[in-house]
Amino acid sequence: MHTTPARYRQQIDIEGDAYNAVDFHGIDPAALTRLPAVLLLLLENVLRNTQGDEREQAVSAILAWLDQGSSVAEVPFLPNRVLMHDTTSTPALVDIAAMRDYLAREGGDPSMLTPSLPVDVSIDHSLAVEAFGQADAADLNMGHEIRRNSERYRFLRWASSALPTVRINPPGTGIMHTINLEQLATVVTTQQGDDGTWIFPDMLLGTDSHTPMINGIGVLGWGVGGLEAQTVMFGMPTMLRIPDVIGVRLVGAKNEVTQATDIALTVTERLRKLGVAGEFVEFHGPGVSTLAAGDRAVIANMAPEYGATTGYFAVDQNSLDYLRSTGRGEAHIRQVERYIKQMGLWFDPARRPTYTQTIEIDLGAIGISVAGPRRPQDRRDYSETAQALTEIGHVFTSDEDKELPRYPVGLAAITSCTNTSDPRLLIAAGLLARKARRLGLKVPGWVKTSLAPGSPAAARYLERAGLLPDLHALGFDIVGYGCTTCIGNSGQLLPRVQQAMERNQARPVAILSGNRNFPGRVHPDLDLGFLMSPALVVAFALHGDAKANLREQAVQVTAEGRKIYLKDIWPSEQEVTDTLRLSQDPSDYASAFRQASHNPLWDRLEAPAGELFPWSESSNYLQPPPFAAMRNQSLLGRYTAYPLMIVGDDVTTDHISPASAIPSNSFVADYLADRGEDRRDLNVFAARRGNWKVMLRGAFHSRALKNLLCPGCPVGHTLHVPSEQIRPLHEVADLYRQEGQSTVLIAGERYGTGSSRDWAAKVLRLLGVRAVLALSFERIHRSNLIGMGVVPIKLPQSLSEGPSRLLAGDTVELDLDPAELEPRCAVHVLIRRANGATETVKATAAIETMLERDFLRIGGVMPMILDRAFNAHAPAA
Ligand code: SF4
Repeated sequence: MHTTPARYRQQIDIEGDAYNAVDFHGIDPAALTRLPAVLLLLLENVLRNTQGDEREQAVSAILAWLDQGSSVAEVPFLPNRVLMHDTTSTPALVDIAAMRDYLAREGGDPSMLTPSLPVDVSIDHSLAVEAFGQADAADLNMGHEIRRNSERYRFLRWASSALPTVRINPPGTGIMHTINLEQLATVVTTQQGDDGTWIFPDMLLGTDSHTPMINGIGVLGWGVGGLEAQTVMFGMPTMLRIPDVIGVRLVGAKNEVTQATDIALTVTERLRKLGVAGEFVEFHGPGVSTLAAGDRAVIANMAPEYGATTGYFAVDQNSLDYLRSTGRGEAHIRQVERYIKQMGLWFDPARRPTYTQTIEIDLGAIGISVAGPRRPQDRRDYSETAQALTEIGHVFTSDEDKELPRYPVGLAAITSCTNTSDPRLLIAAGLLARKARRLGLKVPGWVKTSLAPGSPAAARYLERAGLLPDLHALGFDIVGYGCTTCIGNSGQLLPRVQQAMERNQARPVAILSGNRNFPGRVHPDLDLGFLMSPALVVAFALHGDAKANLREQAVQVTAEGRKIYLKDIWPSEQEVTDTLRLSQDPSDYASAFRQASHNPLWDRLEAPAGELFPWSESSNYLQPPPFAAMRNQSLLGRYTAYPLMIVGDDVTTDHISPASAIPSNSFVADYLADRGEDRRDLNVFAARRGNWKVMLRGAFHSRALKNLLCPGCPVGHTLHVPSEQIRPLHEVADLYRQEGQSTVLIAGERYGTGSSRDWAAKVLRLLGVRAVLALSFERIHRSNLIGMGVVPIKLPQSLSEGPSRLLAGDTVELDLDPAELEPRCAVHVLIRRANGATETVKATAAIETMLERDFLRIGGVMPMILDRAFNAHAPAA
């Protein structure tokens, strides 16, 4: 047994200043040396933020984790800040604004609903690639973005004035994770308490699954749903089951041609094969020290792709070098170093902590890679795209266009925080472009090219390196600083490619430096995509055929007939290092960010003032959602339910609540057109997340989704079983509601995978779905369902196929007694078949913590926040 310590606070002196810090000295030192770094950080957080019995129990539970390398115990976690982007923050802030209204109506004080933690919002998800291949593309795209989103952006400006703890980083400042790396993360932070100044590790939660990117520089943080973020920003800790920790031991060093992207894709492949699902991952071993912090951030970024909650690298000299290279002050860097070393948190390549499971990866064995064409874990050698596309197969029904390949590169996008935040990757792409340009190579006319760096600092070092003209010569002009193609805002394909696709003459492929390539992710009409490093994106763009084997085939043939191979233009490690040394100026980061923050288009938007937001009935972007005025509306209880839909495996949050363009011929478009909108310019669903009426109609509006309840029914429709009518989902949900009939949703494996999209849970609540019964759930979506009061239930595998599968006409009977509901408790599901036969299956409540149980008892996160705001005002008894 481990001993429980008696005191946890110490005073430490850093550079002549005295600080309060957590004291580990009372804890068994042997146990401390065996704990993974991520659990040491959780231990620090628990010691600092809890008291009394709760603290003693949490400390004991973390130490007891060492016995099995696993635990079912839960501990509270309270970060010091929250990160959001425009499409997750808008609905969260709309919820807060609507809750303020409710509070005011009921006689409360709306200002009580102000986040107690700092919240940084980046407006990065709405930029689309409309202009490209021209020097002013970024300005043009920014103009379109602000015009199209002005109403939503005015609301965000209102939020930043009404909620003093919310800071908005306007369009053009960059992608949230890049800004976090370059500007926001302190690694070690200080805060004034009642008892003096505390110093502690910077920790955060973000409403985006790629938040773990910040783990690359030693800051612990991960992605949560918007609803979980709402609880945290109002000062309630999130309850966390002490995670299993997978140790990835890195050995060797990357070779001359390998880039960080290749390592990230390899880690993704290996960890997915291991079956990682929600665990924390921690990198250790001697190979870690060979990686720059920029490389580590690329690897950490892809945590959701390898199934993990985090991908953590502890702080070492390379982390400090990164802080220095991005312009952080020397005094702060010394403070980070002293604190991390004094607390025993400094990375030691020889340390071998206890992990739940360990794998080893030899960095020297990794070569140039791609992943796809449909999943990020399907890594291959870069020569194998043809094989991968052949495996997918396709029957073309039109003759070949002699000039256009059957699998043309439709999009070649240097995009995403993953691979555009690391200067080495962008410099490598620029150097490849330079060599290609000098040889007179050109990108074929059917390829839509774009370069969207994670922040405007990239433009500075690319310019200083003289690489912008080279990138421009190949069409890779900067299109702006935002998510663009990575989130599906890739704009239209070039007409030639679009037409060839519509004639079934060609099947265009996306080539991108992103992290996801699910069908429809980067463009609604594209279901094939390969992920790769920015330099390789340029090489594939030059070839123009996604099936090209660039190991064997020439990238292009010059006008003089010389075959140019990839090795002729691939930049070496040394070239990248030398160019970067000459072009990077640490002062760029803060000054480029500052300049972008004073965006005149943004500043000109007139924002309303006041504690309450002035809603407009005629707005098609902002409407107060009904669930923000709900108190004690639990969906638990005993009931019989029809399935509203039955769906298969791998249903993503994109399927449930799409982010992409609203189709002009859909019933959603009809609704908006009836309200005066131009059918040809309806914007994307993601931009309408402040309007629940649009989002409700957009539920499951995905061509890629199959509703097994009525195969072949139109997009976004389902079967109303009693009347056998097939109608839009929200209409069927209304019919059931009018009949007083409960509904559930039935799904297969990995339900809710993909982005951390709380609207994927909110639409279910709006549709009246009381529970989701699935074979398995993705972590963040499961938590979002609970945040909306919808019960996630894990079905046994026996229901996965064959005769036991649920069919139209079957109903389920559930008895979810609030008094008996516990984390992971058994749930008996009585299935009543359409022919009258019955069977009972033993399922499990997919509830991880007692706090989650409490949310379900009260009806979700918002009723809990409202209760606290009212209680803060309750007169003393
Ligand atoms: S992963 Fe893509 S969509 Fe997500 S924040 Fe990064 S760039 Fe944006």
